Amino acid sequence: MLKMVVCIKQVPMVSELPWDPKTGTLKRDLAEGMINPACRAALDAAVRIRESEGGEIVAMTMGPPMAEEVLREAIALGADRGVLLCDRRLAGADTLATSYTLARAIEKVCPDFDLILCGFATSDSETAQVGPQLAEALGIPGVAYVDEIELTGRTVRMQRLADNFLETLEMDLPGLITVTTGVHAPRHVPLGGLQDAFTGAEIETLDAKALDVDPEQIGVKGSATRILNVYSPTSDKKNIVLTGTPKRIVEQLFERFDDKIGGTIGKDLKSDKKKS
Ligand SMILES: Cc1cc2nc3c(=O)[nH]c(=O)nc-3n(C[C@H](O)[C@H](O)[C@H](O)COP(=O)(O)OP(=O)(O)OC[C@H]3O[C@@H](n4cnc5c(N)ncnc54)[C@H](O)[C@@H]3O)c2cc1C
Repeated sequence: MLKMVVCIKQVPMVSELPWDPKTGTLKRDLAEGMINPACRAALDAAVRIRESEGGEIVAMTMGPPMAEEVLREAIALGADRGVLLCDRRLAGADTLATSYTLARAIEKVCPDFDLILCGFATSDSETAQVGPQLAEALGIPGVAYVDEIELTGRTVRMQRLADNFLETLEMDLPGLITVTTGVHAPRHVPLGGLQDAFTGAEIETLDAKALDVDPEQIGVKGSATRILNVYSPTSDKKNIVLTGTPKRIVEQLFERFDDKIGGTIGKDLKSDKKKS
């Protein structure tokens, strides 16, 4: 039986990102959560593969207790199991610690996995690092930014757009794929399925102890990177009207902006002026 794991992250709803301009941080606790759009596309891809090949889909997320919601939604959308990795010790993880934790959890919950599906990136942190790092942590091949997936036996054929070229790639299972939101138009959540998922389905919750992870490699401790500052960049825009003949306007442009123009064309206009 084909075993698939879909990694899903809960992200704040884009329409209501409460942002604290003083601290420059996102007030995640005040935002409504939703399935990251690319993770939803990954789940949809898994459901389509199961429709033709059969198999089992495990939806997995690492997050706070409220992340359970996205697992229930994933079950309503077709996942067979929902697994939540939740523990204070896992909090504050960067992408390295996140992928380490997901890898150990997959080995624990679904050791005989065939295919791992992730979104290509998230809408809140958007590093696009977790999928490739997860493949590395599991010691399996991985292909990122995939738009089309076709499974034949133990070989996946994929298509992706890279540098404006369409690439066709093949990978033998087990392997990992990160998908773009262009992979399929997302299906609607069936209302009956939602009700069952929120009332009947059981979510398996694992803490750091149950995961048997190295405490030095999880959460803040296991994070190799630190955010030193977060701020909204400000831009200083003003309108300037230049008057005179076209020649005079061009001269004024160079008088005012020769540094910027020189920088753009890769030439020091000031030293050129001195020479002439
Ligand atoms: C330097 C740094 C410090 C950070 N510190 C904090 C912090 O203190 N607190 C905090 O909350 N966040 C923190 N973050 C954010 C946190 O590391 C990321 O949200 C998390 O590691 C996932 O990265 P991403 O959202 O960029 O995922 P991407 O790499 O963009 O996601 C790609 C795919 O990976 C999978 N995936 C990603 N995250 C998860 C997950 N949690 N569960 C299941 N699947 C997942 C999904 O399939 C997703 O579509 C930090 C990030 C960085 C770079």
